[in-house]
Amino acid sequence: MLLKNYDPFYPAFVKGEGRTLTDSKGNTYLDFASGVAVSGLGHSDPELVRALSQQAKNIWHVSNFFHIEAQEECAEQLLAASPFAQAVFFCNSGAEANEAMLKLARRTHYSEGQPQRYRTVTFHNAFHGRTLALIAAAGKAEHLEGFGPPMDGFDCVPLDDDRALLDAIDEETAAVLIEPIQGDGGIHVVPPERLRFLRQVCDEKGLLLLFDEIQCGCARTGRLWAHEWAGVKPDLLSSAKGLGNGIPVGAVLAAPRCKNAFAPGCHGSTYGGNTLAMQVVKATLKRLTDPSFLDGVVARSALLLRHLEALQRRHSRLIAEVRGMGFMLGLALARGSAQQFVLQALHEGLVVVPCSGNVVRLLPPLTITEQEIEQGLERLEKICVAISQ
Ligand SMILES: *Cc1c(COP(=O)(O)O)cnc(C)c1O
Repeated sequence: MLLKNYDPFYPAFVKGEGRTLTDSKGNTYLDFASGVAVSGLGHSDPELVRALSQQAKNIWHVSNFFHIEAQEECAEQLLAASPFAQAVFFCNSGAEANEAMLKLARRTHYSEGQPQRYRTVTFHNAFHGRTLALIAAAGKAEHLEGFGPPMDGFDCVPLDDDRALLDAIDEETAAVLIEPIQGDGGIHVVPPERLRFLRQVCDEKGLLLLFDEIQCGCARTGRLWAHEWAGVKPDLLSSAKGLGNGIPVGAVLAAPRCKNAFAPGCHGSTYGGNTLAMQVVKATLKRLTDPSFLDGVVARSALLLRHLEALQRRHSRLIAEVRGMGFMLGLALARGSAQQFVLQALHEGLVVVPCSGNVVRLLPPLTITEQEIEQGLERLEKICVAISQ
């Protein structure tokens, strides 16, 4: 048996092609979830399959004791598309990326002669992963329950409270960590002026600004990184989810101030930056950084949002609000449960996922066509009618 930490929905998907999923009974579904914002280029993409299978025939594993050329190539590709950054660390998941990012933030202050600066300010409704440090970072009671005293080093404040933010900062503060669009917490877009304010506070106090773009990055909003819309640059950024389109991979991107803080032996990962993941990331990034691809995401996601807003007006007693950006959208339910909505959606052949605050998340593959958007909307209409009855 498996431990009981998951409570999965059925059906079990056994095949994916583009935006279509097939279950073990042969039923098909339209994918409006991409896992959870992972399969941005859809399923079984021929270029990605080729990249992975070609590498699988050459060599799988060499360890980071040896030079991995694809890691350098991948880093150059990421950096060319991320002007704020000059160095990259690769790992295998979002939580690992955030852990590395927090260690790098602390180590940066240490290398600047300020080893007492180790604390990080975080925000209510955040989600940063499930390690002991990261559940302490987000401070969500449900995720902390039963796991002993929360790890020290985090000060979690309300997102819109200037006073609380400034009060939380002292001579031990190293960094401010935020998702430019909160994902699991309920699809909350952080206003651009808020991000600019955080940048200003960090600059005034010598702190590092850390963006967790694990869910909102990788072209989900129609820019490679969500923060590009606000014109605010982080000192460190974590990525994962969409970066490998389903191959486990994570990354930390570091601005000049942080790029030399890790010395050999400081940090590491057995599988981080392995050859299989790197080939898939290279092929994925080639597409996600293409300006015409990004423009397509902006245009098609605007179409989806317009449709959803009309849906909300027709079903305003069920859907209180539509919010989000790009293909990272949420339906905040006024009644019923997100869980129930997801089940009804599966019944109608549409895959969506729930999140906190009774919100249904819509995170379709970025390659979704206008026709598939219309099809998804027809199904959403039926779901709303069925639930409202
Ligand atoms: C999913 C997610 C994580 C954790 O990633 P894992 O790969 O599950 O460890 C961290 N931050 C954000 C914003 C996420 O959406």
